[in-house]
Amino acid sequence: MTKPPLTLYLAAPRGFCAGVDRAIKIVEMALQKWGAPVYVRHEIVHNKYVVDSLRDKGAVFVEELDECPDDRPVIFSAHGVPKAVPAEAAKREMIYVDATCPLVSKVHIEAARHHENGLQMIMIGHEGHPETIGTMGQLPEGEVLLVETVADVAKVDARDPERLAFVTQTTLSVDDTIDIVAALHARFPKIVGPHKEDICYATTNRQEAVKAMAPKCDAMLVVGAPNSSNSRRLVEVGSKAGCAYSQLVQRAPDIDWRALDGIASIGITAGASAPEELINEVIDAFRDRYEVTVEMVETAVENVEFKVPRVLRVPA
Ligand code: SF4
Repeated sequence: MTKPPLTLYLAAPRGFCAGVDRAIKIVEMALQKWGAPVYVRHEIVHNKYVVDSLRDKGAVFVEELDECPDDRPVIFSAHGVPKAVPAEAAKREMIYVDATCPLVSKVHIEAARHHENGLQMIMIGHEGHPETIGTMGQLPEGEVLLVETVADVAKVDARDPERLAFVTQTTLSVDDTIDIVAALHARFPKIVGPHKEDICYATTNRQEAVKAMAPKCDAMLVVGAPNSSNSRRLVEVGSKAGCAYSQLVQRAPDIDWRALDGIASIGITAGASAPEELINEVIDAFRDRYEVTVEMVETAVENVEFKVPRVLRVPA
């Protein structure tokens, strides 16, 4: 039977970012250095496939430090942790390694600097996301006010409206955040913040590629996990940019083929924590059913790399 033709647009950049790559390497190095088990507080990156393959090598994933024994190393995930977590690990004299993405650590430093200068902090982020919890946890409880939407800005109860600063989660929608930042500036003209926002290069670049790709596609699939903030933002960006059927899939078996009936083109991208193997698995599933012509939609070339410490240093 002849297969129907399909143009498969492939976004570039897509998938793994430098922070995710570094965090995974840190777990692998820890397993080499200390042997199994090595504990990891929270999914090292939000991807089940990555977590399962590290688990097979001897990593044990837990949500809280009190689930780890004192005598095994623990790694903190790429999303960052509240200050109280390494403090507790140090108190228990545990070996711990911080795999927080350097771009998240940069936001932690910004927040601490503004706090030292006596400014009250506002964080633009998603409630309950580990990165938001980690960044807010850099300062004493109650010192950071969370804003999730433009509507939230009107509800901010500032100690002194003239002495405010803001930081953002790194994986937000660029466009939504521009609106929230504008609302903050309109209500608090003296608010201090980063030049644009703290959204990282990987999030920005993946959203840009989706914006370029979405109008060409009959449907779009984002390979990523439901708890991956940047993957979910790609789905939203795809819908807003003109591809009404934009869906998240973790793996090829998740594809709803019935919903894709009759399409002539598909767009494929992946969140920053989705490995290329899974993207290839999805592409192969389309090749099985269609005569696929791949067209790259490249909007940026990335060559960011974060150094992984050659020797994992144990904090004093
Ligand atoms: S998405 Fe951005 S902030 Fe998050 S790990 Fe990747 S580079 Fe770092």
